Amino acid sequence: MIKKGILETILARRGKDTSGLIEILRDVQTAFGAVSPEAVAKIADRIGLSRVDVEGVATFYHFFSSHPAGAYAVYLNSNIVAEMKGRAEVARAFEKAAGCRFGETTPDGLIGLHETSCIGMNDQEPSALVNGVVFTKLTPARVKEIVAAMKAGRNMATLVKKTGDGANRSRLVRAMVNNNIRKKGPVIFSPFKSGAAVRKAVTWTPEDVIAEIKRSNLLGRGGAGFPAGLKWEFCGREACEPRYVVCNADEGEPGTFKDRVILTEMPHLLFEGMTIAGYAIGAELGILYLRGEYAYLKARLEKVLADLRVRKLLGKAVAGKKGFTFDIVIKLGAGAYVCGEESALLESAEAKRGEPRPRPPFPVQNGYLGQPTAVNNVETLCAAARILERGAGWFKTMGTPKSAGTKLLSVSGDCRKPGVYEVEFGLTVRRLLEMVGGRDAQAVQVGGPSGICISRGQFDRKIAFEDLSTGGSVIVIGPERDLFAVVHNFMDFFIEESCGWCVSCRAGNTLLKQKFEKITGGHGTLQDLREIEAWGKTIKAMSRCGLGQTSPNPILTTLQNFREKYEAAIDQSRDYVTTFDLEAAVRDASAVTGQKLAEARHE
Ligand code: SF4
Repeated sequence: MIKKGILETILARRGKDTSGLIEILRDVQTAFGAVSPEAVAKIADRIGLSRVDVEGVATFYHFFSSHPAGAYAVYLNSNIVAEMKGRAEVARAFEKAAGCRFGETTPDGLIGLHETSCIGMNDQEPSALVNGVVFTKLTPARVKEIVAAMKAGRNMATLVKKTGDGANRSRLVRAMVNNNIRKKGPVIFSPFKSGAAVRKAVTWTPEDVIAEIKRSNLLGRGGAGFPAGLKWEFCGREACEPRYVVCNADEGEPGTFKDRVILTEMPHLLFEGMTIAGYAIGAELGILYLRGEYAYLKARLEKVLADLRVRKLLGKAVAGKKGFTFDIVIKLGAGAYVCGEESALLESAEAKRGEPRPRPPFPVQNGYLGQPTAVNNVETLCAAARILERGAGWFKTMGTPKSAGTKLLSVSGDCRKPGVYEVEFGLTVRRLLEMVGGRDAQAVQVGGPSGICISRGQFDRKIAFEDLSTGGSVIVIGPERDLFAVVHNFMDFFIEESCGWCVSCRAGNTLLKQKFEKITGGHGTLQDLREIEAWGKTIKAMSRCGLGQTSPNPILTTLQNFREKYEAAIDQSRDYVTTFDLEAAVRDASAVTGQKLAEARHE
């Protein structure tokens, strides 16, 4: 039974706007520990959506649950780096102290234990979110204290005795998180005079701003590497108005946390980049889509936005430019990796299920609310502001001819100095390993689970779009680590995070993992190795979005670069041909989704 007065207060505060549905669900989850069917019915009634629509959104995101998630809801990071740093003992300590298992809530409803794939703290694992408060470097002893505090009814924020560095100490953040900026570079982490880039930009025409970004050869830093200037040009050319700027601050790739540090330390640079994008494409509104795991930063980001309004760097006549109106709002996600994909992010920003859209049309034509939208990564927008401040020529003096500028790397795993490194493109993995204290690595996972796992023989490869492209995640895998355990963890991650729309991704990855387990369990044959490779390619070709298109990479790239480990695991004396044909199995579903079998065959 939900307390009517509280729900009424939430609904009254949020109004009847359907675009506020995720915020309403967040408030309800926080107030009641669940979004019950009763709450769904009341919300639907109030904002004029069907129950099915509201329930569809409420069941999509990890941070909402229909059953009580606990007055104290613990979300313990379960990705591979957390495992490397002692997550298993911490998990056991939570279970022992709380008296329930992960996936359960105590009978009195006080404590719920949940696993989550990445909360953006891989440089300080094991970590957890408890009622939105971040706990880092957890130990079994610390867990005992935390659970005792829960039983005493304490507010989790009061357990943050020692705050981290920089703005983590500020009154509006007060988090124990450390920035761990290990190497500062000239683009992102050099001193920045707030207002300098926007004031300069508005003295130019929007076309000149776009031309300067194009001249700089700034490629999207989220991993895909699409030219930022071209994206702005395409978007600005669309006749339809209004247009929007959306900043993708939903870095959910396990091992990525560099945007967290930008959002903490360089929000002015980011907001200035968004404003310049707005000026260039003719938008009046920018949306910062902030991953739910970083909700602890929201109050400070709102304060920075408020200050920018007071200083006339947002609002009407921005920086004194008549006719240029621009403002920024923040929308919070609620825990869904797939929302890092730009079209899924737009769906989520519209308060719907974060399911990727078919493309084309692309967001520059048909984005937020069906309008032309430039979706850019946090780091890309910061780089754009810096380019306006210091010039495209300066930017191109760094990096390689095809990859200009610097890249932020989030380095974690088996190394002595995990953290954020701003390096010039072209740096070799070997040199990076020297910097981070991970020389003895047997492998490096570049680009997170969706990226590539490289072996020692490839350590002279370069971090650059023309060689090893990465959104920023670099996980060092030490010599003693079981590589198959790493792959297993990554496959579990993709299976958990699939939105389920494509059969190839939803069912194919489970089949792929079963085949992988057969091989690593010592029951595989040469035929299984051939099949796992063929199935992986089929899944990649038949999946609608980047998640499915990269989900077999943990298996495919280790099979390619560590084939000897797979061959050692199979029984090479046996070889037989199975009758199961994955391509045939997903043919009907692929016809519906429009994915082409031919692409799978020819990849
Ligand atoms: Fe959803 Fe996977 Fe298909 Fe992407 S590839 S739309 S995550 S089912």
